Amino acid sequence: MKYIYVKFFFLNEKIEPKYYNYYIFTTQKNNIDMKNIVLASILIGFSVFFSSCSKDGKINVFSVQDDIALGAQLDSTIVNTPQEYPLLPRKGNEEVYNYVEGMMNTILTSENINYKDEFVWQVRIINQDVLNAFAAPGGYIYFYTGFLKYAESEAELAGVMAHEIAHADHRHSTNRLTKLYGFQMLFSILLGKNPSQLAQIAGQLAMGGSSLAFSRNDEYEADASSVKYLTDVQNMRNYEPTAIVDFFDRMQDDSLTQADGSFEFLRTHPYDANRKENIYDIWEDLGSPEGEKFIAEHQAIISKLP
Ligand SMILES: [Zn+2]
Repeated sequence: MKYIYVKFFFLNEKIEPKYYNYYIFTTQKNNIDMKNIVLASILIGFSVFFSSCSKDGKINVFSVQDDIALGAQLDSTIVNTPQEYPLLPRKGNEEVYNYVEGMMNTILTSENINYKDEFVWQVRIINQDVLNAFAAPGGYIYFYTGFLKYAESEAELAGVMAHEIAHADHRHSTNRLTKLYGFQMLFSILLGKNPSQLAQIAGQLAMGGSSLAFSRNDEYEADASSVKYLTDVQNMRNYEPTAIVDFFDRMQDDSLTQADGSFEFLRTHPYDANRKENIYDIWEDLGSPEGEKFIAEHQAIISKLP
């Protein structure tokens, strides 16, 4: 039941109309009594609702496989739209890719990652002077070259990468969609009502990884996890676990003087003084060493970017 239901609402907004048609025809053309449809909807809705929890205990109407499928969908859009997302070619930029992929693999050795084995965990670099990075559901992470250059140290970049990994690992995008639409989505879609809402959700899903702003709580959680992950891996690479603060502070300061709308990252990751305090609090609680920034190492790699 869960499978059919999930496939229905999720495939409805994109490609693969096969499943979509199948569902529609079996419910509407076979003259099933309306009362049964309502009853089935309630049963399906509730069973999905109560059986779908993340490993961290949050209710999420999407399955782990949905997270991966949504991320894959967004990833294929990015790969197939080079005018909008010009990917940095691997050839000639091997060192840069080794740098970011090595960083990701190091962070993923943290024992605090829930979906280390289930998710895809892949990082792509978009060759544009844009100050943004984002995580799509399922472990798809993206960095713009402008963003890599904006970081001043390897520890800052590792902090942001760990933060993005945390957004994916805590399934913040689909948690957010669950909160935004919740029961309303389940019922109106299952009953075939409100097609405009479907279109709206479709838009959100298609762009979910890159434009859906996270809540402040999501930011706190991603920050806390970032500090934890970096602390966990200090025996492999002695990153300063709080270096992300340098990054956000600089971005915050610059956004005040350069109000040109180029600070998309701040819109999707609302930043304030409480976050900074939260980061230092977590770090103190963990009692982890200060670590290093690795400024020269970062600058050496960044100088090779086109
Ligand atoms: Zn964030």
